[in-house]
Amino acid sequence: MGRLVVVSNRVGPLKDTGRAGGLAVALVDALTKTGGIWFGWSGEVSEEGTFGQLQTQKSKSVQMVQVDMTQADYDAFYAGYANRTLWPVLHYRLDLADFDRRFEQGYRHVNDRFATRLRPMLKPDDIVWVHDYHFLTMASNLRVMEVTNPIAFFLHIPFPAPEILAALPNAGSIVRAMLAYDLIGFQTRRDASNFRRFVREELGGVDLGDGRMKVGSREVIARAYPIGIDAEAFSKFAMSPDARRNISRLEKLLGGRQQIIGVDRIDYSKGLPERFKAFERLLEDYPENRGRVSLMQVAPPSRAELDAYIDIRRELDELTGHVNGKFAELDWTPIRFMTRSFPRRALAGIYRASRVGLVTPLRDGMNLVAKEYVAAQRAEDPGVLVLSRFAGAAEEMQEAMIVNPHSAEEVAAALQTAITMPLEERRDRWQAMFDRLCANDAVAWSGKIMADVQAIKRNGR
Ligand code: UDP
Repeated sequence: MGRLVVVSNRVGPLKDTGRAGGLAVALVDALTKTGGIWFGWSGEVSEEGTFGQLQTQKSKSVQMVQVDMTQADYDAFYAGYANRTLWPVLHYRLDLADFDRRFEQGYRHVNDRFATRLRPMLKPDDIVWVHDYHFLTMASNLRVMEVTNPIAFFLHIPFPAPEILAALPNAGSIVRAMLAYDLIGFQTRRDASNFRRFVREELGGVDLGDGRMKVGSREVIARAYPIGIDAEAFSKFAMSPDARRNISRLEKLLGGRQQIIGVDRIDYSKGLPERFKAFERLLEDYPENRGRVSLMQVAPPSRAELDAYIDIRRELDELTGHVNGKFAELDWTPIRFMTRSFPRRALAGIYRASRVGLVTPLRDGMNLVAKEYVAAQRAEDPGVLVLSRFAGAAEEMQEAMIVNPHSAEEVAAALQTAITMPLEERRDRWQAMFDRLCANDAVAWSGKIMADVQAIKRNGR
C-alpha cells in the first residue's frame, strides 16, 4: 500500500494532548500505519500566503506540511465562503447565508492554490484523502494537474436536501467538481442520499446502487461512513486523575442533586436557545425538579467575529439571566452557563458526573459530544442521553431519548423521563450504545474508507 496524503484546513496535532478531536486521533492512526503527509493551512496570514514557504515538521513516518494564506484569501475563502456561505447552507440555514461571488472566487482560488502546492509532493502510489467543506472543489484542480491517484473526500458536516442546496448560486458546478473525487464519504445515510439525489436530479446522474453513481463516463462512490470516536480511550479518560478531580468537585457542589450537561461550541446549529427554553419548560411543567436538577452548559465561543454568533451569545446570556432570576434559590442556581473550554480529560469527568447528556442541535453532521457522553458513563450506573433527531449521531444511537429540539414540550418531557429512568432501563440503553461505539470506533471508520479506496485502486477507474 502507498502512502496516505491527508488534506484538511487545519493540521494536527500529531500527539494526543487530550484537546485533539477524535478526528485528529483517527487520522494520526491511519497516517502512522502507512506513513504519509498531512497538508493544510498553518492558521497564519502572511503577505506571501499560499506562495510562501511550506512549513514542515516530521514525526516518525508522518510529515506535517503547512502553508499560510493571504488576508484576502482568509477573508474570501475562510471567513467568507466557508463560514458565511457553506456552513449555513449545509446546515439548512439559508436565512443566515451570505452569497457574494467574491467569496466563491476566493474559495475556488484557494482550492486551486492548495492543489498546486500539494501536486509536487505526490507520488504515483499515494492515496489522497481530503477533508471537509473547505475543499469541495480541490480534486477537480488536482485532476487538471493530471493527478490520477485515487482521491477520497469526507464531509464532516451535513449535506442538505437538494431543495436547500439548489439555493446556493452555482451549486451544480460545485457538486459537479466534487465528482472528481473517487469516493465521497458522508456522516449519515441521509446525507449520502441527499447528495445522490442532487446528482440524479440536477446533474442527470444515474444511480448504480450500493452508493455508486455514474455521471457521463465518470463513476464515483457516495456512501455513509459515520465517524466514530476512540471509545475505549475516552472511557479511560473518565477515570483519569483530571476527570476524577472534576467529578469530586461537582459531586460536592451538587450535594446529591442531579445535573444535566450540555457541551457545544457557541453556534446557531447547536440549538442552544431552544435548549435553555426546554430546560425552563422542565422547571415549569415538572416543578418537583426545582431546587433539584440543574443545567450546566459548557460553551466555548467560536467565530466570535460573525454577527450571527454575537447575537446568539447575547440571547444565551439573557435567557440564563431570565431562568436564573425566575427560579434560583439560596443554595441552587438552575443554569450554569460557562463560555470557556475544557480539555477532553476534564470533560470526561464532567460527563460522568451528569445524570443526563443533553445534545439538541437543530442540525449537526455527527455530534461527537453525544458519543463521548456515552463513552464516559459508569457501566454500573450510567446516565441517559437525550439526543436531537437532527444530529447525525441519531442514526446510530436510537437507544437514546430521541427528540425534536424545536419542541420545548417534547424535550422537557424527555428530560423528565431521563431524570426518573430506572437503573435497569438506563443500563440496557447505555450498553447497546456503548457496544456499538466500541465496534464502530474512529479507527474502524478510517479503515473502512481506506479499504473502499483501495478497492477502487485495484479495479482501476
Ligand atoms: N470539546 C473540547 N472542550 C470543550 C468543548 C468541546 O475538547 O470545552 C470537544 C469535544 O470533546 C468534541 C469536540 O470538541 O470532541 C466537538 O465536536 P462535535 O462533533 O460535538 O461538534 P463540532 O464543534 O465539531 O461542531
